[in-house]
Amino acid sequence: MKDNERILLSSPHMSGKEQKYIREAFDSNWIAPLGPNVTNFELELAQYTNKKGASVTSSGTAAIHLSLACLGVEKGDSVFCSSFTFIASANPALYLGAELTFIDSEPSSWNMSPQALERALFAASKENKLPKAIIVVDLYGQSADMDPLLDIADLFGVPIIEDAAESLGAEYKNKKSGTLGKIGIFSFNGNKIITTSGGGAIISDDEEILDKAFFLATQAKDAAPYYQHSLVGYNYRMSNVLAGIGRAQLQVLDDRVEKRREIFQNYHKELNTIEELHFMPELKQSKSNRWLTTLVIDPFMTTITPFEFMDRMNQVNIETRLLWKPLHMQPLFKNNKFYKHSEKTTAVSELLFTMGICIPSGSNLTEENQYRVIEEAKKIFAPNDKVQSLLNKVQTGQI
Ligand SMILES: *Cc1c(COP(=O)(O)O)cnc(C)c1O
Repeated sequence: MKDNERILLSSPHMSGKEQKYIREAFDSNWIAPLGPNVTNFELELAQYTNKKGASVTSSGTAAIHLSLACLGVEKGDSVFCSSFTFIASANPALYLGAELTFIDSEPSSWNMSPQALERALFAASKENKLPKAIIVVDLYGQSADMDPLLDIADLFGVPIIEDAAESLGAEYKNKKSGTLGKIGIFSFNGNKIITTSGGGAIISDDEEILDKAFFLATQAKDAAPYYQHSLVGYNYRMSNVLAGIGRAQLQVLDDRVEKRREIFQNYHKELNTIEELHFMPELKQSKSNRWLTTLVIDPFMTTITPFEFMDRMNQVNIETRLLWKPLHMQPLFKNNKFYKHSEKTTAVSELLFTMGICIPSGSNLTEENQYRVIEEAKKIFAPNDKVQSLLNKVQTGQI
């Protein structure tokens, strides 16, 4: 190992079996969309998640776009979405001209707050403008508390799309993450727990939805002997070559989950004694895939900020990242409605964003490199450093 090799947050981890499926695609000249790898990858995904079917797409974003279209979202409709997430969860609602309302997180899963959702749905129903869909995100590999969310959504008759882009392989009450909503979506982007280099999927038990997703993903061709179109369609199918990569990756998914959980455990064991750090919790009766190990730096205990942490790590060639900036704080959404977990206190997602950090968690992270991260983190919080950091801030007039 090179001494100062850059340690990445989460990089692709191939199993070695991908070439076999890629070669099959080449040998049979099934390079174009569709083909046996696509068909089989869909079957295997449906099997893994215990769902009626899956439809694979060119990206997770495309899968969300198709899900919303399948649920009939149109211009002027309302869509609710978790605020604490990556922009890709919400952008597809804008593609369809829908209006987004954002829902805060709750502290035990960091995901959508049932209380906030309930208030938002009551308010919407009073105005006679219930959303057509609710996008619930399972962030950093941790499932949202789906049961109370489903209860509330069912009460108002609104379907849930589960954005499980980061939580493939995780579980909620012994069910696979992504399977609890009407539609679930996954991403196979390069940084996710398994990858096809780029890609996504829809899963559902509703065959009408699956058929419609396929129809819309292949340019919405009417049943006619020529090319005839009555609806707007998209070119969103996954290619047969990439589906081959996905098939091999799916075979090692459970190993990848265990590996990421081990990495989390090791960080926890080594860094939990630092009282300024708190690890992301794991909701009761759920199993996170620990896609990224994330923690918050307690601002009441130290003057070290996540920015400073990131900067220090960067100096020693270790990639770390701030947590997602909540969508209701984005300039793009400055006029959108937002419902807080508790009306009386600061939004949970805002607190997490200001205090949190992700550290390298790829399943191919070596033990040696993991200890490099641990040692550097320990240095940052060593008592001497803390005094020095405080002194610097006093001297530069920051405090
Ligand atoms: C990665 C990601 C997506 C989008 O997936 P792509 O395949 O990159 O389009 C959507 N939602 C969340 C929460 C993600 O992390």
